[in-house]
Parts: sequence; structure tokens; C-alpha cells
Amino acid sequence: MAAGITKKARERINKLREEVERLRYRYHVLNDPEITDETYTSLRHELLKLEEKYPQYKLPHSPTERIAEKPLPKFSKVVHLVKQWSLDDAFDWEELSNWENKNLRILQKSLGRKVSLDYIAEIKIDGLHIVLTYKKGILTNGASRGDGMTGEDVTKNIKTIESIPLVLKEKVDMVVEGECWLSRKELERINKERKKSRLPLFANARNAAAGSIRQLDPRIAAGRKLDSFLYQAHPIPGGHFPLRLATQEGKLELLKKLTFKVNPFYKHCKNLKEAEEFYQSFSPKRDSFQFGVDGLVVKVNSLEYQDKLGFTGKSPRWGVAYKFPAETTTTLVEDIKIQVGRTGALTPVAILKPVPIAGSVVGRASLHNEDEVKKLDVRIGDTVVLRKAGDVIPEIVGVIKNLRGGGEKIYKMPKSCPVCGRRTQRRYLKKNKAAAALYCSNKKCFAQKREKLIHFAGKKGFNINGLGDKIIVQLMENGLIRDFSDIFRLRKGDLVPLARFAELSAKNLVSAISGSRNIRLEKFINAFGIRYVGEETAVLAARFLEKQPVLSSSGDPESHGSKKTQKSNILPIQLAGVAQSVSLEQWQEVKGIGEKAAGSLLAFFGDQNNLREFNKFTKLGVRIILLREGNQTAGSIKSKTFVFTGTLPNLSRDEAKEMVRAAGGAIAGGVSKNTDYVVAGTDPGSKLEKARQLGIKIIDEKELKRLAG
Ligand code: ZN
Repeated sequence: MAAGITKKARERINKLREEVERLRYRYHVLNDPEITDETYTSLRHELLKLEEKYPQYKLPHSPTERIAEKPLPKFSKVVHLVKQWSLDDAFDWEELSNWENKNLRILQKSLGRKVSLDYIAEIKIDGLHIVLTYKKGILTNGASRGDGMTGEDVTKNIKTIESIPLVLKEKVDMVVEGECWLSRKELERINKERKKSRLPLFANARNAAAGSIRQLDPRIAAGRKLDSFLYQAHPIPGGHFPLRLATQEGKLELLKKLTFKVNPFYKHCKNLKEAEEFYQSFSPKRDSFQFGVDGLVVKVNSLEYQDKLGFTGKSPRWGVAYKFPAETTTTLVEDIKIQVGRTGALTPVAILKPVPIAGSVVGRASLHNEDEVKKLDVRIGDTVVLRKAGDVIPEIVGVIKNLRGGGEKIYKMPKSCPVCGRRTQRRYLKKNKAAAALYCSNKKCFAQKREKLIHFAGKKGFNINGLGDKIIVQLMENGLIRDFSDIFRLRKGDLVPLARFAELSAKNLVSAISGSRNIRLEKFINAFGIRYVGEETAVLAARFLEKQPVLSSSGDPESHGSKKTQKSNILPIQLAGVAQSVSLEQWQEVKGIGEKAAGSLLAFFGDQNNLREFNKFTKLGVRIILLREGNQTAGSIKSKTFVFTGTLPNLSRDEAKEMVRAAGGAIAGGVSKNTDYVVAGTDPGSKLEKARQLGIKIIDEKELKRLAG
């Protein structure tokens, strides 16, 4: 009778063990759970209870081994069976190709012939290096890297990582290397808890993973959802190893087959160029991974070549860590200065000790407004933490107050405009009632004029080549330009005497100005930087004005008698006449023009100063080009809305937008159900996904050219 019960218990234990193991693999390695977490926990609990009752049937690699035990007094040391190396770093293409060239030379010398190399490139996880030893297929030891020769025995903690198999399907003897990591979400959760218990927060997922693995109390590691990626396998000399491997890729395949979790983001690259492309393709998306990513690991694929290449004193020659440039660094605030913008807003800017970050040298960072300065408590002389992610503008994210020496100066916003001296006004921002900004209310303020002129001559306005910000300041300081129209008055003789100008450069600028005199209506409107009227609103306003009776008939062949003389140019003063007769209600009725923009347009065209300018423009030869119905190609995209995402192969974003507008289409920033087409290039963002969800037509550059070209 008793024998019958124990036999049943043994069978149950064995069945449970196999089932728990199978479910664990699906859930934690394949990310394809069959059942809920609770069910899994419940089955494992039953197994634990049975094993406690019948300890004779418990196996050393039972899944219940993952359940944490009491704290250890200290870690013991383990001598690694395979020396643990770390890879050399490369930071740019030049360093990467130098690495390859050196290897090619070594191989040619040793083999007596030229070879070409292919690679395995793996996204580099910012985790903690771990070394696992399996004997006869059973995990016998898990260790940290330590100094490469000896590490710490963290087996108990390693066993709490659910994606690491305690027993393998084959009775192999091997050392496996990899990375254990914490997801961003888990880090957030842990830090939230630590904050509640007033414990110091982990700075990043790597530190949290290291802190968890190097915990004497395995219950702590067990409470954190650590995960793993394994990437390296070495046979133990004299042991059983399933097959002779020829490539690094083969190693990854083998690890997968043995039920290890392998980084899914790896790629076989036929040459180094492909590895570079892989790096470029995911580096802009680095923050979208669930784990920290700090670069790309590139390894020579052929194990024969790996062998031939061997090691330097400190690292293997066959692999390199191609790292992202640092995105966070520290530097000194040397000064805080005020910048006066086009709208008159006073923006405090930190002048920094120049520091390289994310691939460029940064010497200044905007502090946005007075409240931001107060919130950060940043003072002149402070050491600050500077962050720049990808193409994002660098920003100061914190001050290291412990480094203050007492000589730091608190910054006070000026009571008057540093450029013109007019008293500043405090205005609350529309979007955020709590944040206020200071403004210079002087419409004639040099700084505002300067910014307006820069915008006017810039790409989105008259697009005058060679009339950049430095030249504009120089011309203003020499009294050559004050109003927009003054630009069209410039003569070669005015410029030649100035510093930085010579005969040729003066001639070039004058001819660039001359060439810009014919301008499309939407660019003309946009050039003035009318408040609340951005690039897209300017397009809408232009299309609306073109439909007004006077303008739409001005090019009508009948009114001019001959088809040949069909005009699509008008004088600025003609435009003013039409625009002035548009009422506020009419502006508001234009689809896409908001209340504020409508008011702003009304005020702009009603302003006598602007009318005088329009008059001057007219006399100085500025002509406005209208978009005529007849000028539109097929009209198939007329009043259709386009959204762009990703990089197009041939057209720049501005060129593509221009093409859509020229064919009568409109452009929107975000995807909504009102979007007609999403134009997708390489590395598209989340807009593409949204377009798919909403079932919006997705087209490429070729299709765009067909529709609008
Ligand atoms: Zn001012």
C-alpha cells in the first residue's frame, strides 16, 4: 500500500518536473507562454511540496531549485575553466575598418593567401557577464567574470533566472558565456519600490542586474525578473560535446538547440560594410529595446580564422565591441547668457566647457526658461550632467551639487532685454499655465529683428543662398538692412567694403538675392514668421488666397486675351489687396486654420507697416508665383493629406513635401483617420505602425513621384 503511494508520488514528481520545465522554456526562453504565470507557479508549488515530503525523489536540477534559499555567508571563488576575456572597443567606422585590416594582414601572413571575412554581429546588451558550467548536461556552476581568471560563485542567484536551463536535453560538458540583464520596465518597478523604502536608486539596468546577481541573499535575486542571453560555448576538454563547429553562427544555433535563450538581434554579415549598416539601422532605435543596448558586438564568423587570429595580451583579436558614443557626460557651466528670439522670448542658455557627446562637441545648452533654471538649480560654475540622445538637442538633466565649492553664482533673469534694454514682460505660456517666459516687448528690438530676418532669408522663406545669420548681423550692424525690403535694395557696391566680403562674394550674394525675387505664395507668407502661422498653415492660407476671385481670374486666358500670356505671377501689392478683404470668419472657415492663426493672419494683412513693406517689395521687383489649377499635374492628390516617416532614398524631406504641395496635396505631422497617404522610407517610426492599424495607404518614394511628380 505505502509502496503504491510512493510510486505514485514519484511518478507525479517526475511528470510535474518535466511539465514545469517545458512550460518554463516556452514562457521564459521562447516568450510564448502557454499558460499564465499563476498556473506555472502553482504547479511548481505542488512539486515543491511533494519533494519536501519525498526528498528521495528530488533531483539536483529540479525546477524547485530556482526557489531561493537562505543568504550565504559569503561568495566562494571559482577558477574559470575557460579564461574570460573582454573585447576591445571601436567607436567609429575608421576604428572598425582598422580592426579588420589588421586581422586580414595577420591571416594573410599565417595562411599565405588573401582571405575575406564574414561576421556575426549581435546587438550588445548592457548587462552583466555570466559564466555557466554544465557537466553531463546539468548546470553545476554559475559565476561572475571577476578578473577573468577567477570569478565569484553566484550559482544560487543564477538558478533564479528562469530563462537559464538547469538541465539540458543532451548530456554535454561545456562552458557557456553570456549576459544577464534586467528589462527597463523591471528596473522602473524595482526603483519605485526602493524609493518607497528610501533606498538609493539604481542608475541603470546594468547596475541593477549586477546588484542582484552579487547578492548574498538569493531571495533578492529571485524577486527581480532577471533574464539572459547566451552567446558563447566552449567544450570542456575530455568531455562530451555534440558536434564540431565551424562558425560562430553555428555556436548560436547550437545554443538555441540546447534550449538556451539567444539574443534574437543578431545578423550574419557578408562583410564589414553590412555590419556597419546593421549598426546604423538600429542605433537610432536604441531606446526602443526592452533592454539597455550599448553598441554592436562584431565577431569573425569562421572559427578556423578565430583560432588563427588568437589573442593579444588582453583581448581576442577576432571580436570587437563597436560601441555607441557616450550619450551622457559631465561638464562645467562657464556662463549663462540670454538669447532673444524672433518672438521676443528671452531664453537662458548655458555656456558650457566644450565637451564631446554622442559624436559631436557641445558648447551650449538651452535652459528654456526661468522656471527651468530654478527647477534644476543650475548655477554658473556648476558641474552638470549633460545628455544628448541621437539627433536630439543636448540638454542639462542635473547638477552634481556635491562638487560645489562655494564660488558658484546663482543666475538671475535680467529685468530688461540684454539687446535693446527695454523692460521685460512676464507672460504665461498658453500650453502650460505654470511655466512663464520673459519677453522683450520692443518690436524694433535688434535681436527680434535679427531673428526675423534670418527666418525671412532662410530655407523656409526666400531661401537666399549666402545670407546666413552672421552676414545678416553684419549687414544690420552696418545699417544696410533694417526691414525685410532692404534686402532687395542691396547692391554689390554696398557689400564690397565690408569685412568678409570680396568682389566675387558680393556679386554672388547680390545675384542670389536677385534670383530669389520670384517666390511661391506659401513661401512668401511663411517668410514673415507670422505668429501661430507655421509652414503648413502658410500653405493652407496660400491655397485659400489663390481661390479668391481676383487672383483666380488674374491668370485666366480670357482676361488677358492670349493663352501664351497666361500669368501666374502677381505683385505683392495685389496680394495685399486680396488678403485685406478676407474677414476673420473667412479665415476661420479655412479647414486646418485655427482661431489663433486666423486672428494672426487678419492682423498681419491689416497692419499698415506690412502694407508699406508690400509696396516696397512691389517696387523692388518681388513677384509672387501662384499655384494654378492648370499647373497641377493630374490633380489626383489635390486636397489629399500626406504624412512622412523614415528616410527616402533620393528626395530630402523638404523636397518631398514641396512635391506634394506643388501638386495640391497637404502635409500633416501625425497619422490620423484623416490621413490619405503615409510615405514611408527606411527606418520609419511609429507612424507606420499606426498607419497599418488604421488601414491607411502606405506608399514609397517611387509611388509618391508617380502621384505627385
Ligand atoms: Zn529687446
